[in-house]
Amino acid sequence: MSHRLTPEHEDLRRTVEDFARTEVAPVIGDYYERGAFPYEVIAAMGRMGLFGLPFPEEHGGMGGDYFALCLALEELARVDSSVAITLEAGVSLGAMPIHRFGSAEQKKTWLPRLCSGEALGAFGLTEPGAGSDAGGTRTTAELVDGGWVVNGVKSFITNSGTDITALVTVTAVTGTRPDGRPEISAILVPSGTPGFALGQKYSKVGWNASDTNELVFTDCRVPEANLVGERGRGYAQFLRILDEGRVAIAALSVGLAQGCVDESVRYAGERSAFGRNIGHYQAIQFKIADMEARAHTARLAYYDAASRMLAGEPFKKQAAIAKLVASNAAMDNARDATQVFGGYGFMNEYPVGRFYRDAKILEIGEGTSEVQRMLIARELGLPA
Ligand SMILES: Cc1cc2nc3c(=O)[nH]c(=O)nc-3n(C[C@H](O)[C@H](O)[C@H](O)COP(=O)(O)OP(=O)(O)OC[C@H]3O[C@@H](n4cnc5c(N)ncnc54)[C@H](O)[C@@H]3O)c2cc1C
Repeated sequence: MSHRLTPEHEDLRRTVEDFARTEVAPVIGDYYERGAFPYEVIAAMGRMGLFGLPFPEEHGGMGGDYFALCLALEELARVDSSVAITLEAGVSLGAMPIHRFGSAEQKKTWLPRLCSGEALGAFGLTEPGAGSDAGGTRTTAELVDGGWVVNGVKSFITNSGTDITALVTVTAVTGTRPDGRPEISAILVPSGTPGFALGQKYSKVGWNASDTNELVFTDCRVPEANLVGERGRGYAQFLRILDEGRVAIAALSVGLAQGCVDESVRYAGERSAFGRNIGHYQAIQFKIADMEARAHTARLAYYDAASRMLAGEPFKKQAAIAKLVASNAAMDNARDATQVFGGYGFMNEYPVGRFYRDAKILEIGEGTSEVQRMLIARELGLPA
């Protein structure tokens, strides 16, 4: 058993590492401070093929695998999480539902543009009253005269309001099951469809160079053919997408945790206090050693979940464990790295301040840490 990367995966990892250091690091702080979406950086990532990594070449993808996406996310997040989450949401949430469940026509229409990074897709599950309890969706889609009429509100949807957003796939109640429970389906709504509007503007704590919006659907009509997958299977499909997405978020979290180590080692060798570099003090060394140990063990957890996923084995528990420990590692490392930097850690001119602000959402998005614990407990046979 080996967790060594293949030569192909290692080449990709190095390429993205180099790109993140030379193309993202010098410019991203400015976008972050302005709360601006980094179109130029995202376009460059598109040209590198990152948005097509796990998709087949016939649909414009790179013919790689999901682990390749995870490696790219880790290397990007070592430098910046806004660009990493833009890639994660674009691929794993925006394009993947179409790849996994879409019709041949939907794949042909949407995947080439999404794979090129020239267009972004979004995934609308969360609502004002339904987050962890995503099955409590209130958005409805009624089939009227050969088209779906969508009404409702979606909250916190990543990549949904940029100039290059092409579509959002939303969950909506399309009827009632024989057992009385709501029938939930997934409906693809192209940007610019009348009745599809952006809602309130959010002021976020972190991920400031990524795009997050409330979406409002008012009698928004799309063709019947915009159903993604089977009618009534929308919620189950999204749960599968979220299992995979957790591995991706774990990789992103490991990247942030490792970025904290990178920055702390560098700073500890430069900053002097009481006549020596602070890297000489054991209190600083132990903090950094703990940070490295957390990043390393969290990386092994996501490698394990990803390898099971690629082998076609059950991976729900391992994905939940990876997301839980990696987001925890990111939070702990961001706190400790900020401490290593002292007052400068509280200044936006250093990346660790950004890491600190970006870490918290990792314990919330794509299933909170409590939800991960619930999933692990269920996999252990404890009552739901
Ligand atoms: C920046 C950002 C980007 C996002 N992007 C997307 C996106 O692209 N698409 C999308 O659909 N969603 C997106 N989300 C939404 C995100 O997935 C949800 O915020 C998350 O799932 C939590 O839902 P909630 O906010 O409604 O919290 P709630 O579900 O209201 O949870 C509140 C608290 O209660 C806890 N809790 C809830 N139920 C239980 C329980 N049974 N047992 C124990 N504790 C419980 C939770 O763990 C949490 O601590 C995004 C959110 C943010 C902030």
